[in-house]
Amino acid sequence: MCGIVGYIGFENAADFMLEGLEKLEYRGYDSAGIAVVGDNHVIKVQKKVGRLANLEAVVKADPNPGHIGIGHTRWATHGEPSEINAHPHRSGKIAVVHNGIIENYEELRAELQARGYVFQSQTDTEVIAHLVEWEFRTSNSLLEAVRKAVKQLRGAYGTVVLNEEEPEHLIVARSGSPLVIGYGIGENFLASDPLA
Ligand code: GLU
Repeated sequence: MCGIVGYIGFENAADFMLEGLEKLEYRGYDSAGIAVVGDNHVIKVQKKVGRLANLEAVVKADPNPGHIGIGHTRWATHGEPSEINAHPHRSGKIAVVHNGIIENYEELRAELQARGYVFQSQTDTEVIAHLVEWEFRTSNSLLEAVRKAVKQLRGAYGTVVLNEEEPEHLIVARSGSPLVIGYGIGENFLASDPLA
């Protein structure tokens, strides 16, 4: 179980999240990634295997200014350490980071595949992204969609969901995994460890 950070406010989300992820490096990880809704209102995901410095170099070379984002350092439990398996995971306009294990991911994956979703990764996490995307189709908000989705998950998890269509909200859920929210003035922060 590794690290999660999130930021919503007026600063550059990527800079803030990379700083937070650095503070979580002590936990160990095999890859890292961030997703930011850019000023063009589109989510961009940037991921890299290995040290956080590798991701920092990618973000520096190809910056995506924006004020809301999620970030992750992964310790693989389902699927090898690779760029495809690194978080965030996407489904349409949704991006998700997740710590922990979804125990019923195989049955959920089969159901989602039957609905037409195509899986890119070998992770248990990707089911959360597609499940939220599916539930969002019949929900009035991302919050409602995540509520419906997490009811179907079994296991210990902390997860954060970002939706291009609702770029003023980050929705978080946890069960047996830590997630803390820092309330600021005009900005809010979240992390899987208070250090970050
Ligand atoms: N089970 C997830 C994966 O393998 C999350 C691992 C983690 O907590 O970093 O991708």
